Amino acid sequence: MDTVVSVEDLRKTYGPRVAVSDVSFEVRRCEIFGILGSNGAGKTTIVEILQGLRDRTSGQVSVLGLDPAREKNRLRRVIGSQLQSSALPERLRIVEAIQLFAHARNVPVDVEATMATWGLEPLRNRPFGALSGGEQQRLFVALALLGDPELVLLDELTTGLDPSARHATWDLIRKVRDHGTTVVLVTHFMDEAEILCDRVGIMDRGNLVACDTPGALTAHHGGPVTITFST
Ligand code: ATP
Repeated sequence: MDTVVSVEDLRKTYGPRVAVSDVSFEVRRCEIFGILGSNGAGKTTIVEILQGLRDRTSGQVSVLGLDPAREKNRLRRVIGSQLQSSALPERLRIVEAIQLFAHARNVPVDVEATMATWGLEPLRNRPFGALSGGEQQRLFVALALLGDPELVLLDELTTGLDPSARHATWDLIRKVRDHGTTVVLVTHFMDEAEILCDRVGIMDRGNLVACDTPGALTAHHGGPVTITFST
């Protein structure tokens, strides 16, 4: 089986604080891999290291065969990652956002086809600031996937959404994977990880405490996965 992401003994410290402590896992091609954990568990730090946005303290990391610490510019061209909403001006129209990001990523993009794929046509002239949370997430998924990256990193995509928008977002993520893209998904939500992910790594205070399929984690815990995180 193809390995898209390989993390070995990854450690990240901020002064005396250990944010990620000797974590190892692999993400396989075309799977949805969840990183689950409570606030401060180290999830975002891992994803930012995978993207080359943060340097690691020690350990080995390979993303699509590249070392994010050394080849961050090359890596950014081949992976898709989610924006924070503060990254877009409120007055930017949806069609302009897609054109702008296609240009910034330097990839050929059929803007009309992108809008059709993600159901954004009715919103084409809507300013970004006037989108609902669910509509914003739909745009973020579309932007992350511009240029057909092999791997996409999504961080807490459904936080703050109502149940119907969460379900719609899950459908989008499945669509991404069915299209042949590997997905790494950071989440706080056990139900989301169980329903959506092929495998899940559970983080607790910088440690990877379990990593398996939701079914195996459920069997191991003798029922639905209910892991209590310490704060
Ligand atoms: P959340 O779900 O709240 O986003 P997380 O699991 O993504 O949390 P991280 O953001 O990776 O957690 O943070 C892990 C730990 O590292 C936390 O204790 C956090 O306070 C600490 N941390 C993160 N960034 C920094 C920084 N720039 N300087 C110092 N400590 C940091």
